[in-house]
Parts: sequence; C-alpha cells; structure tokens
Amino acid sequence: MNILIFGPNGSGKGTMGAIVKDKFPTAHIESGVIFRENIKGGTDLGKKAKEFIDKGDLVPDDITIPMILDRLKKDDCKKGWLLDGFPRNDVQAKKLAEALKASNMKLDFVIEILLDRDIAKKRIMGRRLCANDNNHPNNIYFDAIKPNGDKCRVCGGSLSTRADDQDETAINKRHDIYYDKNTGTLAAAYFFKDLSKKEGTKYIELDASADVKTVADALMKQLV
Ligand code: AMP
Repeated sequence: MNILIFGPNGSGKGTMGAIVKDKFPTAHIESGVIFRENIKGGTDLGKKAKEFIDKGDLVPDDITIPMILDRLKKDDCKKGWLLDGFPRNDVQAKKLAEALKASNMKLDFVIEILLDRDIAKKRIMGRRLCANDNNHPNNIYFDAIKPNGDKCRVCGGSLSTRADDQDETAINKRHDIYYDKNTGTLAAAYFFKDLSKKEGTKYIELDASADVKTVADALMKQLV
C-alpha cells in the first residue's frame, strides 16, 4: 500500500497516520520528523532546515524534495509507505508524481483531512506531547482529551510542548501555506485528487471536526 495523507497542522494528521500504519504495514515517513531528528542530531541538513522551521516557513524544495525521494528508495519502503507532510506545495506534488511514474509506483489512497482553520489553530496551541508516546492524545483546549493536570491522560507520562506549536505567527504562516489552493498544500492535494480519478487511486475526504475516535472510525471504514 502506498498512501499520501494531507491535513492542516492541528488536524490530527499524525494520529490518523498512526491508525493507517496499524492497518497496513507501511513505512511511515513524516517529513517534519525527519527534519526534527536532523536538528536534534546537529547534522548539516538539520542546521539548514532549522532557520526555516523556526519561522514557520517551508524548508526550500531543493533540500526537501531529494530528501523525501531518496527516503522512498530505502528498503523498508518496499512493503509500502505512508507519506505524511510531503508534498506541501504544487512543485513538490509534481516532482513526487513524476518520481512515482518513473519508478512504476502506484498510489493506493490519498487522504485529505478537512478542518476549519480556527479549530486547527486551537488544536495546535493546546497540544501536549507525552514523553512515552507522542501519539497519546493530550490537548488543554478540548475536554475529551484534557491532560491529567500536567501529566499524560493515557499513561501519566510527563508532557511538553513543541516550540513551533506555541508561536502564533508561525502557526498562521503554516496555515497560510496549507490552505493556499493556488500553490500551497491544498494545491498539492487537489493535484493528486485530479490524478486519482485517472489512475484509480481512492481519494478520501475525511471530516476531522469530530472527536478522534469518530474520525478514526470513519477513516477505517473508508480504507478498503
Ligand atoms: P510538521 O511536523 O509536518 O508540522 O513539519 C514541521 C516543519 O518542517 C514545517 O513547518 C516546515 O518548516 C518543515 N517541513 C515539513 N515538511 C515539509 C515539506 N514537505 N516541505 C518543506 N518544509 C517542510
């Protein structure tokens, strides 16, 4: 299975990605995670990427596109992959489509998570990360997943915030990029929506305004 997942920052994209990965044994490739690992490891790539990520800008295409296309060639991707966070603009979308065509890879599903921009912003700013498992849902703005005081509601682990989650200017910038239908991430999603019709790929539009379980159930039903 080869799967693309789109969703604005704060839409639960990571959580849905983990569900897809449980159902299909795919390599879960998250561009943001790759960048953060490189920043943590102090690599050249990390140093270059950090200045853009801190401002909420996209890391330039000449760094990002080869990084992801190379990643797709790794052995663990032979069983299939779930690509999350890439493509993020129209140029990346076209380059990915070209690379898939050149290597005869087919897309099975494209998932577009739909969420109102204001709700997405609240979800980001309220998000808390559990030290034991980043997919444990904790958010101070939503009753259903409020942390237990300052501890993870699932396992009691300690909680932290991601620095780029607390910077409102950066969040607005990230959302400007996502919701841009001309050259931004929605342009990339719609590019694959058009392509899906021609290539027999299932394009799933997932309304993420409900709670995590409801959204996850809706997704599971469509992943057939
Ligand atoms: P994320 O964890 O997906 O929110 O990504 C964190 C940051 O990494 C983004 O705000 C961008 O600065 C950068 N990034 C992630 N994916 C891409 C991409 N496909 N193209 C350019 N920059 C990216």
